[in-house]
Amino acid sequence: MTAKCPICSAPVVREFKPFCSKRCADRDLNRWLSGVYVVPGVDGEAADQIPEDAFEDEGDDASDAHAARKPN
Ligand SMILES: [Zn+2]
Repeated sequence: MTAKCPICSAPVVREFKPFCSKRCADRDLNRWLSGVYVVPGVDGEAADQIPEDAFEDEGDDASDAHAARKPN
């Protein structure tokens, strides 16, 4: 089955799942943060409000993220 990047609809790359690239992952994260959590002018508080659970949607990928640091 082929998953698509929710940002640009390109095929998902396993390394950056569920996105196609780090750029899209960052873009989604930034959009999510700015849209939901960041109140303009108080970015000092934003970090404290990010739920850790947000990054654990897919448990398997936690280890992948670490592996991604070294080239294939
Ligand atoms: Zn994308």
